[in-house]
Amino acid sequence: MRLPMKECACIYCGSKKQFYNKPCPNCKRVPSSAEDVAKSLILCREFQLDGANLPLDTSEWQELLEKIRRGDQQAFDTRQVEIVAAHQSKYVKNPRVIALGSVAFFGPVLIGLLLLAWYLLKS
Ligand SMILES: [Zn+2]
Repeated sequence: MRLPMKECACIYCGSKKQFYNKPCPNCKRVPSSAEDVAKSLILCREFQLDGANLPLDTSEWQELLEKIRRGDQQAFDTRQVEIVAAHQSKYVKNPRVIALGSVAFFGPVLIGLLLLAWYLLKS
């Protein structure tokens, strides 16, 4: 998922940034692990996930940014991070699923074309 997120923040230093998956303008770090991406999404005001009570309301969000700026290692709610990470992993592209999906989609079309070709050649 690569949605533009207007109000995001860096999970490493608490600076505000525009996109959750772009380098931080302050510390230049980019979230790479699934866990860090999940945390980044929690810090995005435009990311919605009902099961994880996201987005955070403004006071929760500011409180979380404060904790990050203080270097609090327990700033994030582990459970919330897990839910978001699980949600995100569903969107990770699986080549086999895509291949099967293409066969399911193009298979009938291909059979139709073959039948049409056969019909045209016969007549
Ligand atoms: Zn940063």
